[in-house]
Amino acid sequence: QLRAQSRLFVTRVEAEQARLQAERARLEAQIAHTRAAEFEAHALSDQLTGLANRRHLDMQLPLLLGHAEQRAQPLTLALVDVDLFKLVNDRFGHAVGDRVLAALAQMLRENTRGSDLVARIGGEEFLLVLPDAPPADALEVCERLRARVAAHDWSVLAPGLTVTLSLGLAHAPDYAAQPLFERADAAMYRAKHLGRNRVETA
Ligand code: GH3
Ligand code: MG
Ligand code: MG
Repeated sequence: QLRAQSRLFVTRVEAEQARLQAERARLEAQIAHTRAAEFEAHALSDQLTGLANRRHLDMQLPLLLGHAEQRAQPLTLALVDVDLFKLVNDRFGHAVGDRVLAALAQMLRENTRGSDLVARIGGEEFLLVLPDAPPADALEVCERLRARVAAHDWSVLAPGLTVTLSLGLAHAPDYAAQPLFERADAAMYRAKHLGRNRVETA
């Protein structure tokens, strides 16, 4: 009977050890998960497009503005919003929508200089920071980008697919990020109201 009791005791101890081990594994997995989330939150680039993300922009824009102000150089902020993107998702599916965003990111990169900052700041919204370019040149860059996106053959992604952009521009000075952003945003909404697929300047 004593032997039977001690065997029971051993199995109880083993069961408790197994429970503790499982609990520790669960905690470790939780810690790893939290670390991954933290890492992602601190990352500076957007997963889908590889562009700078909002966090990167918030860090970089004040630096670029300060640099431009010190040298009394021009700087243009261009807010870029995909036209009727909800319809793209509805008609062609979210996966096609994602591929459109990735392709647009590539076109944004190709049509800007290495010294420009290209960021994805929302689902289907991008922001270009064009330092050291006269306003007329920045406008030309944006107009060319708009025209290229509109003329691009999107049917390779899905038959019948078309994509256009509305852009709102604001030029510094003023060298303050928030007012500049608000002016670009207002100009972008004007572009929407005026029929989309166009560039408006604040
Ligand atoms: P507007 O011309 O006025 O900008 O119309 P819109 O449809 O583009 O505007 P709205 O803001 O209503 O819709 C944006 C859509 O973008 C809604 C959302 O489902 C989609 N979207 C946001 N992020 C992503 C993404 O990462 N992938 C895909 N496929 N769609 C996204
Ligand atoms: Mg939008
Ligand atoms: Mg949109």
